[in-house]
Amino acid sequence: MEKGLLVVLSAPSGGGKGTIVKELLARNRNVRLSVSATTRAPRPGEENGVHYFFTTREDFLAQIESGGMLEHAEYVGNLYGTPKAPVDQWREAGIDVILEIEVQGGRQIKSVAPDCVSIFLLPPSLPVLEERLRGRGTEPEETVQKRLLAAREEIPHARDYDYIVVNDTVEEAVENIESILRAERLKSARGEKVIERILTSC
Ligand code: ADP
Ligand code: 5GP
Repeated sequence: MEKGLLVVLSAPSGGGKGTIVKELLARNRNVRLSVSATTRAPRPGEENGVHYFFTTREDFLAQIESGGMLEHAEYVGNLYGTPKAPVDQWREAGIDVILEIEVQGGRQIKSVAPDCVSIFLLPPSLPVLEERLRGRGTEPEETVQKRLLAAREEIPHARDYDYIVVNDTVEEAVENIESILRAERLKSARGEKVIERILTSC
């Protein structure tokens, strides 16, 4: 069995990662979302172990120390990181794993797993991003402003990603990501087992 893909999905806050991933998971049985650890406080409706593993700074640093994090980064004053074990287990079982992470983490993944597939999700424009971020109604105005400032710094990093997808409509963005994943699974570098099977088929 071929190993599952490791997919890095980045976007500025409010860019639509959560929305797009939810739809992608609903439509594709062979894809899982990695649940990150974070030191930020849960938003209303967020559950521990479902949206994030909410943890203290002390516990988070202990996990890094023990080698349990695939990557980690500080973003707008909070720590975020990807627990390594579930990612490895799913990929070994042939399941594609999505990491919904910011750009510093994306860079770390590229260096520890160069075969990852990186996708940057862009909003159609900055005013639309602002409207969506504010419309979500999950952050106080001061945090919205901080995240918009962070977005201006993050967007140029889209150039370092393998693919750029514009989140105009959810449907089109999800279809574009599905096309990327389908093409990545067909890459010759991932087809060694198929070649061997055919060569030994008589
Ligand atoms: P992120 O996870 O990147 O922070 P979200 O998925 O929470 O972003 O999206 C931010 C807001 O924008 C949410 O209220 C969501 O419903 C809305 N949104 C996301 N994608 C679209 C889209 N294509 N069209 C309209 N609204 C969208
Ligand atoms: P939020 O607080 O809006 O949930 O996330 C803030 C930012 O942190 C988003 O860009 C999100 O993608 C990113 N993020 C979430 N989990 C991780 C993670 O495990 N690692 C890194 N590097 N970034 C993460």
